[in-house]
Amino acid sequence: MPDPKFLKPWHGIPREKIDWNPTVDPLLCIGCGMCVTGCSRKVYRYDFKNQKSVVYDPLNCLVGCTTCMNTCPAGAISFPPLEVVKNLEKRADVREHIWQELISRKEELALPGTEKYPGKGIPFKVVEIETLAPEIKRIWLSPMEKPLKYYPGQYLTVDVPGEKEMVRAYSIANAPREDGLIELHIRLVKGGRFTTYVFEKLRENEILGIHGPYGEFKYREDPTAPLIMAAVATGLAPMKAILEYALPKSRNRIFKMYFTAHNCATFYGLQWFKNWSNEYPNFEYITSISSPHPECPYSAELGRIHTVIERHEIDLRGYDAYVAGSPKVIKASVEVFKKLGVAEDHIYYDIAA
Ligand SMILES: Cc1cc2nc3c(=O)[nH]c(=O)nc-3n(C[C@H](O)[C@H](O)[C@H](O)COP(=O)(O)OP(=O)(O)OC[C@H]3O[C@@H](n4cnc5c(N)ncnc54)[C@H](O)[C@@H]3O)c2cc1C
Ligand code: SF4
Ligand code: SF4
Repeated sequence: MPDPKFLKPWHGIPREKIDWNPTVDPLLCIGCGMCVTGCSRKVYRYDFKNQKSVVYDPLNCLVGCTTCMNTCPAGAISFPPLEVVKNLEKRADVREHIWQELISRKEELALPGTEKYPGKGIPFKVVEIETLAPEIKRIWLSPMEKPLKYYPGQYLTVDVPGEKEMVRAYSIANAPREDGLIELHIRLVKGGRFTTYVFEKLRENEILGIHGPYGEFKYREDPTAPLIMAAVATGLAPMKAILEYALPKSRNRIFKMYFTAHNCATFYGLQWFKNWSNEYPNFEYITSISSPHPECPYSAELGRIHTVIERHEIDLRGYDAYVAGSPKVIKASVEVFKKLGVAEDHIYYDIAA
C-alpha cells in the first residue's frame, strides 16, 4: 500500500492522476540494491530470491524525481519523459498552488532576513499604454507621491494586481526625466500572470505599486573605450535608458547597437535607432530576427544575436560590452564578446526578458 503521507495531492493535482514512477528492466538489473536502499520513499522492494529490485509502491515516487535512475549503475531504470511534469507546471492552477504554498509556509521557507514583504509599492499612475509590436507594450507611469531616483540601466519591481506579495521585475526604459515619468517595455509571456494582465486588463489611470530601483547594470562613463551593445527583445529597455542618457553627452564615443528579436511579434525600436543614427554620427545599429515569419515586414538580418555579432565584428579589443536579454542570450553573447577580444571585466550584463 502506498504510504498516505506520499499520496497527498501534488500542487493540487491528485497523485494518482500523475503518470510518474520508475520502471525497472529486469534483464538489465544487476541486483545491486542501490535503488531499494537509496529511495527514502520506499518505492522499491528487494526480491531476494531473484536478486532484483521491484517497483512496489509506484505512487510513493516523488513527482519529477529521477534520482534512482541517475544512480543505477546498470541503466536499468527508466521514467516517463520529463515533459509530463513540465507540462503540469505550466498550468495556471498549479502555479497558483505553488505560490499560495510559498506564502503560507513563508516562515519555514523564506531565506532568513527576506520574510518581510515590503508592503505595497509606491503608487504610480498608468498614463499611457502603447503597442510597440504585437507582443510588446510600452507603458508610461507617472509618480503620484514621489519620483523614483535611478541610474539608467536599473530595474524596478511592480506589484502584480490582485496577487498577494507577488512582484515582477522590469527594466526602466527611459533616462531619468524631470517630470518623473517612467517607461516600461513589457513582452507578453503566454500564461504569465502579470503580462497577461497588462495585455488584457490594464487600463490608463490605473494605479500600480512600484518598488526599487534595483540592479548594478548601469552606464560606465569612459570617453575613450568604444561601446558595443547586444539586446534581445525587451533587453532593449535598459539599453534605451542608457543611450538616451549617454548619447547627448558622449559625442566622441562609438556606440554600436545590435538588436535581435525572435520574430516580428517582438521586433520594435526601429524608429528610435533611425533617429539616434541621424542625430549622432557616433551611433550605429544592426538589427536581426532569429526566426522570422514569412510575412515579416522588416528587412533585418537573419540570425541569433551572437551569430550576427560574430559575422560583423572581427576585433573588439578595447571595447566595453553591454548585454541584456534572457540568461541564454547573455551566456552566448558574453562568450562571443570574450572570443572577439573584449576583456571579461568590461562585459556588463542584465536579465531583461
Ligand atoms: C532584472 C529583470 C528585469 C526584467 N525586465 C523585463 C523587461 O524589461 N520587460 C519584460 O517584458 N520582462 C522583463 N523581465 C521578466 C519579468 O520580470 C517577468 O518574468 C515576465 O514579464 C513574466 O511575468 P509574468 O507574471 O507574466 O509570468 P509568470 O506568471 O511569472 O510566468 C512566466 C512563465 O513561466 C511559466 N511559469 C511560471 N511559474 C512556473 C512554475 N512554477 N513552473 C513552471 N513554469 C512556470 C509560465 O507558464 C510562463 O510561461 C525582467 C526580469 C528580471 C529578473
Ligand atoms: S525517483 Fe526518487 S522518489 Fe522516485 S523511486 Fe527514484 S529515488 Fe525514489
Ligand atoms: S540500482 Fe539499478 S541495478 Fe541496482 S538494483 Fe536498482 S535497478 Fe537494479
